[in-house]
Amino acid sequence: MPLRLYNTLSRKKEVFKPLKNKQVKLYTCGPTVYWYQHIGNLRMYLSWDILKRVLKYNNFNVKHVMNITDVGHLTSDADTGEDKIEKAAKKEEKRAEDIVKYYLKVFKDDFKKLNIIEPDVWPRASKHIKEQINMIKILEKKGFTYKIKDGIYFDTSKLKDYGKLAKLKKEGLKEGKRIDKGEKRNKTDFALWKFSKQPSKRQQEWKSPWGIGYPGWHLECSAMSSKYLGKQFDIHTGGQEHIPVHHTNEIAQSESAFGKKPWVKYWMHGAWLLFKGEKVSKSKGGLYTISELEKKGFDALDYRYFCLNKQYGKPLNFSLKNLEFARNTRKRLKEIISKIKNSREKKNKKNVEAAKKQFLEIINDDINTPKALSFLWDVLRSDKLNNAEKYELVIEFDKIFGLDLDKEEKISIPIEIKKLIAKRQTARKNKDFTTADKLREKIKSKGYYINDTEHGAKVRKL
Ligand SMILES: [Zn+2]
Repeated sequence: MPLRLYNTLSRKKEVFKPLKNKQVKLYTCGPTVYWYQHIGNLRMYLSWDILKRVLKYNNFNVKHVMNITDVGHLTSDADTGEDKIEKAAKKEEKRAEDIVKYYLKVFKDDFKKLNIIEPDVWPRASKHIKEQINMIKILEKKGFTYKIKDGIYFDTSKLKDYGKLAKLKKEGLKEGKRIDKGEKRNKTDFALWKFSKQPSKRQQEWKSPWGIGYPGWHLECSAMSSKYLGKQFDIHTGGQEHIPVHHTNEIAQSESAFGKKPWVKYWMHGAWLLFKGEKVSKSKGGLYTISELEKKGFDALDYRYFCLNKQYGKPLNFSLKNLEFARNTRKRLKEIISKIKNSREKKNKKNVEAAKKQFLEIINDDINTPKALSFLWDVLRSDKLNNAEKYELVIEFDKIFGLDLDKEEKISIPIEIKKLIAKRQTARKNKDFTTADKLREKIKSKGYYINDTEHGAKVRKL
């Protein structure tokens, strides 16, 4: 069963075939690091992590690039408003560089907690100004740019197929609800380079052939992907909100500059995380961070398990109650696995291979994680498979799920309990079993259970 992926460009599920042999070049629009990434953002990165695992599972070599936006992303998609990083720096009275460093670190920590495989390259926009200026120069030479008071703009009317990804209709755009075009020639034209206002209050600005300023937000993705993946590549991923503006403009400038069509072969978009039926947002709620969920007693992998219950392209309803359900199910799953782990039964290779094949068919159908997850449960409940076979399959499937199903859960034991455990160990050493038993009861009354094994005392929460 070949891998099939839904391509936004064709609005169809297509058989995936890379441009070159088994090499897959993958680009993901990364975060703007001016604040914490909430679970809605993180759902997207989890989806692309599963995609990457599925590609690897199908024996493709993947080179993954994910940008970090640290300049140029304005508070409005229409090239107006403040630069998000500059705004945060002002508000927190810090250097822009410190804002970026801090939120990038939190983001990377969340990746680790969620078991997301890191991209091969994390390029930052502010470190690729030269590449972005070069790209504007090419577009200028080819006649796609014009200058107005606040910057250099891309003239979208020069492209016949502008808006093909979003299936934008030119007529609709003329009366569209976007903001006034101001000095722009067309409403859909977008900034390639913005001039700093004079006198400048910006922390991040650079010299350019057109004047001091900073790059437009869309430009970084085109300039940096071409640097690390080439002028044409296989898969571009991002949130569905990027289809009409950000990705549409990335295509416009890249195809104009590089002259390759299509610039990207497969476009994949993740659906939103919903809270009370609407996209998680400041006004609607649901904007939790991973640390906030941890404070509520969840593990980041509970959230990972929760996300697997919906295919990446479908909206997913979040609530703490749903997450609690995911936590309990994941716990049950791990308990079952620890029970079948040491089975010595003889495996029937045929049974195992048949189940693996079935799993591959499911996951290769546009990354159908909910169906793959229920298949995992079918395997565990099956009376045709023995425990040794089940265990081998679970470990195999977890290459995609990334749930650490084989790993023992780490529990953080309070110091008070640790002290009681140490006391009990001493008592046992001195063969004072009455005290040891009393201490075991005391520990139990505080919610922890001790199991004496040949490898020492194992503690778990009751
Ligand atoms: Zn992008």
